[in-house]
Amino acid sequence: MTQLVFRDDAYERSCDARIVAVRRSEASVAVELDATVFYPMSGGQAGDTGVLRANNIELRVTDTRKGEDSDRVLHLLAPDADPPAIGSPVIAELDWERRHRHMRMHTCMHLLCAVVAAPVTGGRIAKDKSHLDFDIDMAKLDKEAIEKRLNELIEGAHAATPRWIDSAELAANPQLVKTMSVAPPLGERRVRLLEIPGVDLQACGGTHVANTREIGRVQVVRIRSEGKRNKRVTVAFAP
Ligand SMILES: [Zn+2]
Repeated sequence: MTQLVFRDDAYERSCDARIVAVRRSEASVAVELDATVFYPMSGGQAGDTGVLRANNIELRVTDTRKGEDSDRVLHLLAPDADPPAIGSPVIAELDWERRHRHMRMHTCMHLLCAVVAAPVTGGRIAKDKSHLDFDIDMAKLDKEAIEKRLNELIEGAHAATPRWIDSAELAANPQLVKTMSVAPPLGERRVRLLEIPGVDLQACGGTHVANTREIGRVQVVRIRSEGKRNKRVTVAFAP
């Protein structure tokens, strides 16, 4: 089991850890640590990149994925990488600028959920642009109005704060699972919520900024139909 440092503090850029497992395949060398700041690809958010430092070597992490069970995080290295032995200490260090863009974009997607009143059917969060898919009529999606409202909420400097509830409380409040495709795994004892008071409250295990102002100005770059129940709204950082 990996201690998920990013769950408690998304702003930690590095942490001390020990190697607990190394798995080799043709495509990569997967390193499991006892603790990590690296967010594994999930909930539509891309996996982190960065480096693992040990003595004089620096190992490039090209992607991060969940292990077979969600408590394990696999740091993917190039297939010819030669990590130190199990038990060795390393420093896990993020590509911070990329991750911070993910945090800004991810928090912006929570605002988009609040602006577009419709069920979310999918989404993707990346460093330059992100999208959510909504089950809604195209006619109800007004590009200019959505962009204006998003930027108002960003400039409104709303706090975004994670908190935990138990699974019974979530079961009693099913509206907290807004994004059908990223529903929290059944049977988890605790579920993490992200609360932007008065704006949005929903179950989410991703990484977010602490205040909406940190997102910076955004623009709605495209709205298009991706199917009957998928109307895609794509947002980018304003130039
Ligand atoms: Zn989130």
